[in-house]
Amino acid sequence: MSLENEKRYLLLLSSYQLSKNNPAPTKAQVLDNIEDNGWIILTEIDKQKKQNRNELVWRNDLAFVRKHLAQNGWYNTSENNNWGITIEGKKYLNELHKIISLDLSDLNKVSLNAVNYAKSVLPNIQNMEASNSSQNYFEYENFQNIDGKDRYALIKARVNQGAIRKNTLKKYDTQCALCKLRFEPSLVASHIKEWAASDSTEKGDLDNILLLCPNHDALFDKHYISFDNEGKIMISSKLNNNDRVLLNIHNDMKIDMNDKMKKYMEWHRKKYLQ
Ligand SMILES: [Zn+2]
Repeated sequence: MSLENEKRYLLLLSSYQLSKNNPAPTKAQVLDNIEDNGWIILTEIDKQKKQNRNELVWRNDLAFVRKHLAQNGWYNTSENNNWGITIEGKKYLNELHKIISLDLSDLNKVSLNAVNYAKSVLPNIQNMEASNSSQNYFEYENFQNIDGKDRYALIKARVNQGAIRKNTLKKYDTQCALCKLRFEPSLVASHIKEWAASDSTEKGDLDNILLLCPNHDALFDKHYISFDNEGKIMISSKLNNNDRVLLNIHNDMKIDMNDKMKKYMEWHRKKYLQ
């Protein structure tokens, strides 16, 4: 994650925490809160005083980033020194958190304290998102109270009702992208970049979805097969020849790929089980 995004994350998270008691915290409150919670990793340079200013370097840096947040509508701009987070800001914080969660080893400024706090309040942010979202074309469910496999099954079921399924069937002419099976009730809309990691646009993006039969969906979903940039199938060595025959996969299978799908597939390949 970029340094700029890490700083955005810290600011939004701090304002979010303070917003429970104070919808319009000041700059000093937001920055003090970040420091008091141990959310920011400070270097020696960060702790020096900014030249020509009576302020530490890191505080000056974050104040600069706050301007970008305000320009994008993620921070209130109604009054000077109002560092309050907006509804859009909360949604954006939620997206940033998903990205951060993908690779915690990649962080420079954000401490694990901050990530853990965000994780604990994320359900509230997502519920808020559900009630305010203008994009209810796919429905957020209150999945947060449900764990593991059950939660995943619910998500999968939800995707396979409604608009996403309808559009996917149409795009793929109601056949499995791999084996061309045409039995509609068995076909599954399968996300390339997994649902939990996709942002709200990616979740509804048809280029992020394959239509697959149950066997091929299961293999793709569990990363035993993936596809290279030309759409050629990659098959895990964990599958022996007999299984391959029974599951109807072979090395010369191919799917059609466009540039947007390639981007999502790159993500899928990272989890592919050689
Ligand atoms: Zn198939």
